[in-house]
Amino acid sequence: MLENLKEELVKLHQKLVENHLVVWTGGNVSARDPESGLIVIKASGIPYEGMGPQHMVVMDKNGKVVEGKFKPSSDVYSHLYIYKNREDVNGVVHTHSNYATAFAALGRSIPVVLTAMADEFGCEIPCAGFVRIGDEAIGKEVVDHIGSSSACLLQNHGVFTIGKNAEAAVKSAVMTEDIAKTVWLAMQMGKPLPISDEDVEKLHYRYTHIYGQ
Ligand code: 13P
Ligand code: ZN
Repeated sequence: MLENLKEELVKLHQKLVENHLVVWTGGNVSARDPESGLIVIKASGIPYEGMGPQHMVVMDKNGKVVEGKFKPSSDVYSHLYIYKNREDVNGVVHTHSNYATAFAALGRSIPVVLTAMADEFGCEIPCAGFVRIGDEAIGKEVVDHIGSSSACLLQNHGVFTIGKNAEAAVKSAVMTEDIAKTVWLAMQMGKPLPISDEDVEKLHYRYTHIYGQ
């Protein structure tokens, strides 16, 4: 079931690899099918190399496996918590991408010091607190801290991003790492200059309403 969505998720997991956001079995992507409300997520501990649709698990919103022969991702209850609490979200991505996770190791949010960040996120990328892996605690931290951003860092762990679909959440994960890298580089030379709230708001409006075709 949901074969197209499974195929799309396999491709999106490969996008994480292509963008150097994950290694080996770390990270995961899920999507909610808007019609049925079912969630498709990567099985736990599956290497990216050789990953196929058979490694995707279909679940209902309460965490019951509807189809799939493997155990779902260890973060599945957190993904489900996010879907339950954010009707607007149909895609969730988790990575341990290096530069963003370096901020997370310090428990530091990423401040808005780049126009690209104002464009894409319209606010800082917040850092939520430390919680252990395995239940919905990560999802609660993300929902409580993410605000209007599409990305949230998790102290000592990594990055969670959300989107209107899985591709949008992957885009946010790519942008998060790109921004984290530039901000980190800037921090090696001094203190990056903040952009005013007014400018952040105007830049975000332009990017989301006027920019592009
Ligand atoms: P899974 O392989 O179970 O998805 O775990 C990866 C991970 O990053 C856990 O936070
Ligand atoms: Zn992780």
